Amino acid sequence: MFLVTNEPLPAPLPSEGLILVSACLAGRRCRFDGSANPDDTISKLVAEGRAVPVCPEVDGGLGTPRPRAEIRGGDGADVIAGTASVMTHEGEDVTDAYLKGARRALERAKATGATTAVLKSRSPSCGAGHVYDGTFTSTLQAGDGVTAALLRSEGLTVLTDEDLDRSQE
Ligand code: SF4
Repeated sequence: MFLVTNEPLPAPLPSEGLILVSACLAGRRCRFDGSANPDDTISKLVAEGRAVPVCPEVDGGLGTPRPRAEIRGGDGADVIAGTASVMTHEGEDVTDAYLKGARRALERAKATGATTAVLKSRSPSCGAGHVYDGTFTSTLQAGDGVTAALLRSEGLTVLTDEDLDRSQE
């Protein structure tokens, strides 16, 4: 059950309606290494029932902890187009799980009416604007993660936790 308040969401979030958020930002320990990326604003919105947490990698069938993975040969849009892959550091192709998780996140957005998502920056699923380049050398490239790309292609506004932080400076 959602606890609804009338307090406006912090800019640049929409003034009303649910938003989709990365579960690790809400404190869920679902990162590849079993940790979380807690963000006070996101955690508060989830606690108030104003944000819907999703973890595309877990929803795609991957366990926690799980091998680190990066997109190789492009970004999330290229993965959706079938021209790039998501590979673990050990060389396993986990593209199908990432695509499944992205579709689950989109289904959740549609079911809740969310038109904005705030996702964890740089993740191969959730990253928006920049993701690691597949070399496992902490090198960023322009582009979205798989889930961010799918949500964006379906018309959602996709932000990251870093966008939110900058808006509050
Ligand atoms: S960044 Fe996204 S896929 Fe990764 S742990 Fe957080 S919610 Fe899950």
